[in-house]
Amino acid sequence: MEASGLAPEEVVLRLLDVIEKDIVPITTEAVKKGNKVFGAAILKLSDLSLVVAGTNTEIECPLWHGEVACIKNFWNLPEEGRPLPSECLMLATHEPCSMCVSAITWSAFKEIHFLFSMEDSRDAFNIPHDLRIYQEVFKCERATRENKFWKAYDLPKVVETLPENGALGEKVTMLRETYASLSELYQDSKGGASSTRIPLS
Ligand SMILES: [Zn+2]
Repeated sequence: MEASGLAPEEVVLRLLDVIEKDIVPITTEAVKKGNKVFGAAILKLSDLSLVVAGTNTEIECPLWHGEVACIKNFWNLPEEGRPLPSECLMLATHEPCSMCVSAITWSAFKEIHFLFSMEDSRDAFNIPHDLRIYQEVFKCERATRENKFWKAYDLPKVVETLPENGALGEKVTMLRETYASLSELYQDSKGGASSTRIPLS
């Protein structure tokens, strides 16, 4: 991880904190309106300060996935004072889909960090579209996780490689429980008025 010169343990702790304190609250409000559970944040690599966060608002437009909503918020910031994408990382609660990964690539962010894999999205969140789109549209299993544009980090897998990772493991477990509740809320809304506004719900 390029981020900030901090130890990997400190980087992961900070990213999990941002998910808990900056993403979960806005996602909770959006899920209550019928949106999916996916959120994102952009942080400065130098000190891991939050630049901007965003969450899925698909009931407005099917393109407003968490990462794209966040990127839109980023480019809406005044140019003066806005860091360069090369100075930032993208934190996504869920491994970005083909659209979001393209948006991240076109915006030239160099690092992607995520809490849940696309297999989690399919199996634990009952949202199988990401993997199906890769397989049906692109005829490949998934995007790479390292290429000339960026490198992606699966945060729970990073945690497993760290010594003394008990507290981080507990935080991951706590966030999994938080997202299980949010997912239940979203799944319950399927079939309701808001879900008919999401083509791939
Ligand atoms: Zn997406």
